[in-house]
Amino acid sequence: MAAQLIDGKKIAADIREELKANVAQLQKDFGVTPGLSVILVGEDPASQSYVTAKERACQEIGIYSDDNRIPASTTQEELLALIAEKNADPRIHGILVQLPLPKHIDTDAVIAAIDPAKDVDGFSPVSLGKLMLGQPTFISCTPHGIIQLLLRSGVNTDGAHVVVVGRSNIVGKPVANLLFQKALGGNATVTICHRHTRDLGNFTRQADILVAAAGAPHTITRDMVKSGAVVIDVGVNRVADPTAARGYRLKGDVDFDEVKEVASMITPVPGGVGPMTITMLLFNTVLSAKNSCK
Ligand code: NAD
Repeated sequence: MAAQLIDGKKIAADIREELKANVAQLQKDFGVTPGLSVILVGEDPASQSYVTAKERACQEIGIYSDDNRIPASTTQEELLALIAEKNADPRIHGILVQLPLPKHIDTDAVIAAIDPAKDVDGFSPVSLGKLMLGQPTFISCTPHGIIQLLLRSGVNTDGAHVVVVGRSNIVGKPVANLLFQKALGGNATVTICHRHTRDLGNFTRQADILVAAAGAPHTITRDMVKSGAVVIDVGVNRVADPTAARGYRLKGDVDFDEVKEVASMITPVPGGVGPMTITMLLFNTVLSAKNSCK
């Protein structure tokens, strides 16, 4: 039996509608328009398109978007000065520095310079530390999006065994942490796998919920998935395809066509986790604006 699709586009659209109403309410009650500063250093085409998509998404729901595209030659001091300026600007509730940064800039120092009250990407040590402690904070966008996909699809994580494949700071570690927190969308038993895991399938086959965030196609094949498991595919991989207009297609980490025959629910790529990431950035920006009105 084919798995039910978890439709990230639809769930993201629902959340954006809710956020649009929140923005209108903030304007009505407090005269506050949420503001997001987006900082892009350099001209990397992929980063440019991500930044454009984020800014467009802001505008669609009424968030003020403050565009800062600065040259690749920008020094670390200049970038830190720009962040300090945005930290002090009351119109700005969130600051996003698009990664990766040019090699001459210390990414950790830049992220740490963002006021934790405006860290809407949730990448700073303060935000990640609070997340681990189960304290209110900005939850990084992709992990938060995954939890929302599960909750809004009626998947119960309580007591479930979740296997997370990948231990990056932006996906694997935070999503694993969220899943075992004493909270709605948490209370799971979590196993984290990574490149040094021996016999990956031995672990993934035990998963009630499998989160694949390895960044390589075919990481999860049909024989690695338990019958009835929920499969969340975070991977976004460019796979050469001469028949596609751009010469490539986007594929996840999971062999979708085969795995959907054994899973109970599955996210497609594209159209699963992807649309949720920008949506949760909007969520965090609106949350920050709400916090500023308290
Ligand atoms: P990363 O390269 O930083 O981390 C990958 C992790 O997977 C590592 O911890 C590595 O040990 C593990 N891994 C790799 N191959 C493995 C294997 N065969 N077995 C076990 N573990 C393995 O990547 P990332 O930044 O966490 O991103 C992961 C994927 O998710 C990428 O494809 C990325 O493009 C995608 N991604 C998508 C979104 C989105 O919005 N949809 C957001 C972030 C990342």
